[in-house]
Amino acid sequence: MIPPGGTIGIMGGGQLGRMLAIAAANLGYRTHIFAPGMSGPATEVAARWTHSNYDDSAAVASFASQVDVVTYEFENVDVAALPAHNCVFPPAQALEVAQDRLTEKTFVAQLGGRPAPFVKVDSLDDLRAALRDLGAPAILKTRRFGYDGKGQARIEDPARASAAWLSIGQKPAVLEGMVRFDQEFSIILCRGMDGNVVRWDAVENQHRDGILDLSIAPSSGLVLEQAAEAGALAERIAEALGYVGVLACEFFATSEGPVFNEMAPRVHNSGHWTIEGAVTSQFENHIRAICGLPLGSTALVGQRVEMRNLLGADAEQWPTILADPTNHLHLYGKSGQRPDRKMGHVTKVFL
Ligand code: AMP
Repeated sequence: MIPPGGTIGIMGGGQLGRMLAIAAANLGYRTHIFAPGMSGPATEVAARWTHSNYDDSAAVASFASQVDVVTYEFENVDVAALPAHNCVFPPAQALEVAQDRLTEKTFVAQLGGRPAPFVKVDSLDDLRAALRDLGAPAILKTRRFGYDGKGQARIEDPARASAAWLSIGQKPAVLEGMVRFDQEFSIILCRGMDGNVVRWDAVENQHRDGILDLSIAPSSGLVLEQAAEAGALAERIAEALGYVGVLACEFFATSEGPVFNEMAPRVHNSGHWTIEGAVTSQFENHIRAICGLPLGSTALVGQRVEMRNLLGADAEQWPTILADPTNHLHLYGKSGQRPDRKMGHVTKVFL
């Protein structure tokens, strides 16, 4: 156990790191951020930071020697550079599985989960064969380093295979059959060091251009019916990985049951609503878990909670957002806008 007063090392300096650092501070911990940039949303609220590249194993080792436990806020951390001792949570095996879509889908299928139909693609010939197998439309996704719909190409017509292969940079990929779904949702759980697991309400997610727009809890319709099955799978995944911390699994709710999309071995955008909408937030429980503390209740605090992301210029609407006194506004302190950049979010709890 790491008692309050200890130092938590966080790899990654974005908004997830920022909200983790704030939750850690509330419990009396200090945070030390490891990130390549000279500034960022997390460094502004942390006691210390190291600016270095994730694959610089000497810098990572020095950082790890200055903290009591290491965690991470994004899954593209270089596993080979992680300190080899057991103070990294979630465990490196979770990163290895989540970093590669092929490994991830195979792993989840072995545990009885149902991913979208998929075929491994290493060349244009493979892609053409996969399209014959799965049919079009289908989605080509790079195995590694994809997020928010990046590294993906939708293929409506097999004649466009070559253009799709070029557009993802000819990288090792998987072709996924298109899933017909009614709703998208995520299961977010936290597993403590003693193996105790808590789960928040399944949350329904609506996307705009492949990026999360709105999360709603509790969910309705098919999601409500399929949450127990999806939740049980997420727990089997956590168990199999000896997981410690918050794990997010995304699903499609289909007429044939929940279809697994992907997992994130970290706190997740679709869990931001838990800051005001649940007794204990995903950020606080992640800190509690990796420090070996008992986990807090995940119960909803209202009838309904909605979280909307503020992308790009959306954040300029803060005066209007604050004009509604029941809105909780979170701005991440980022400068420089891209239209799809996550600048903040707003949560509303309906009591
Ligand atoms: P991903 O980065 O894999 O989560 O994909 C981003 C979004 O694209 C998802 O949230 C879905 O809305 C959509 N999508 C991804 N894969 C599929 C699929 N196999 N079938 C249908 N829609 C998909």
